[in-house]
Amino acid sequence: MSGMTQILHIVGGGMAGSEAAWQAANLGVQVVIHEMRPKVETFAHQTGNLAEMVCSNSFRSDDDEQNAVGLLHWEMRAANGLIMAAAEKHRLPAGGALAVDREAFAEFVTQEINAHPNISIEYGEVNEIPSEGTWVFATGPLTSPKLGEAIAKETGADRLAFFDAIAPIIYRDSINMDVAWMQSRYDKGETEEEQKAYLNCPMTKDQYEAFIDALLAADKTEFHEGETAGYFDGCLPIEVMAERGRETLRFGPMKPVGLTNTHDPETKAYAVVQLRRDNKLGTLYNIVGFQTKMKYGAQAEVFKMIPGLEEAKFARLGGIHRNTFLNSPTLLDDQMRLKSKPNVRFSGQVTGVEGYVESAAMGLLAGRLAAHEILGTPITPPNGNTAMGALIHHITGGAEAKTFQPMNVNFGLFPPVEGLKGGRRGRKDRYKAYTDRAKETFNQWLEGQS
Ligand SMILES: Cc1cc2nc3c(=O)[nH]c(=O)nc-3n(C[C@H](O)[C@H](O)[C@H](O)COP(=O)(O)OP(=O)(O)OC[C@H]3O[C@@H](n4cnc5c(N)ncnc54)[C@H](O)[C@@H]3O)c2cc1C
Repeated sequence: MSGMTQILHIVGGGMAGSEAAWQAANLGVQVVIHEMRPKVETFAHQTGNLAEMVCSNSFRSDDDEQNAVGLLHWEMRAANGLIMAAAEKHRLPAGGALAVDREAFAEFVTQEINAHPNISIEYGEVNEIPSEGTWVFATGPLTSPKLGEAIAKETGADRLAFFDAIAPIIYRDSINMDVAWMQSRYDKGETEEEQKAYLNCPMTKDQYEAFIDALLAADKTEFHEGETAGYFDGCLPIEVMAERGRETLRFGPMKPVGLTNTHDPETKAYAVVQLRRDNKLGTLYNIVGFQTKMKYGAQAEVFKMIPGLEEAKFARLGGIHRNTFLNSPTLLDDQMRLKSKPNVRFSGQVTGVEGYVESAAMGLLAGRLAAHEILGTPITPPNGNTAMGALIHHITGGAEAKTFQPMNVNFGLFPPVEGLKGGRRGRKDRYKAYTDRAKETFNQWLEGQS
């Protein structure tokens, strides 16, 4: 192997890129990080530090027995992750959450990377997808526009999104099926599965009117400056639709036509909210057409007004953000390599995971996968029983490619543990069983590499 191909080039020194570099360098691989800041700025970053947290200073729940993000923390710690070590060192009191002093955190990551004998940093923007060498692109939600163009050219423009318009995603087992029913509009589809592909929640006129009032009154988030270019491309927030007219939603995503309530076939619903399956396992459903800029607290309140969703548990709430991300299920192989150029991996938020922790975790995987490939000892990712495995399987195969939107880690991505009670009551035991199984599997995966 030539000296040239033995270097691992990582584009972007954010959460994912820094972690990827750390992991690969610790395996003895020479790493060059290419970071455009501070030469080229983004609208959200404020410093030239690596691993800058652009908004909240929280890594969310640190509970590794009952929470999927907490489990991801555990896995990253077990794998000697730099992001978790930095977070631990600069932790702030925050109840069960892992919050950090953001400046001290980013400075620590920057120092550790600078001090690593196997890592160097080159400051400058990378604008193309190279055909040679081993690369990891971890350029994040604010990937520079020039690189965005190069990616679109490589992948096809329709495979790269610049906004996420996320409808809320709900755990199927928290939906009241005594109220909701399964049916596709006009029973469309060849198979019974297709004819019953949607989950429907009916509304009376009074319920609809109250829902519209709540939508109009809800607290909403403003866009950041520079964030909105190209925003209104067919993904209007529902509250904007409601502002355009009280009936707009009833003639749009909430239209009641072609549907018969199996619980009450004689009564025609005034409006119907439809949910669509969001993963192969069928554990998660998204509310069709319900992308929103409502604040999170308001969303939970307003969406629980929908009949059948009174007790809904949200795997994630809705949003519309500037976010450059690939249609990973069609573009990447199970090693996060670009199918059209396998010398290039993508990692972090640009692959369609969402959040600091998820991005860093995907960086950890990409760093290890790429390093082992360079060293001639290739490895596979951990299986889907682990939090990292569940995420990578979701983005590279488990998610529906047509409706692919960025995803947080959550237990809905995990294969069920057999023999456990469903529903609300069994939840605590179920989550404990998921996390126990994940830890054992993850440890085996780590042992397999040593
Ligand atoms: C406005 C905003 C608010 C957010 N708030 C939160 C939040 O509160 N909590 C949360 O968990 N997540 C939040 N996110 C998501 C967050 O950005 C990601 O979770 C996380 O930072 C992604 O990590 P990453 O490594 O993939 O990307 P980043 O951390 O963004 O790192 C990407 C790096 O690549 C560099 N780069 C980009 N293009 C190039 C190029 N062409 N050449 C060289 N370098 C390049 C960038 O300068 C950056 O340093 C927010 C995102 C945005 C945009």
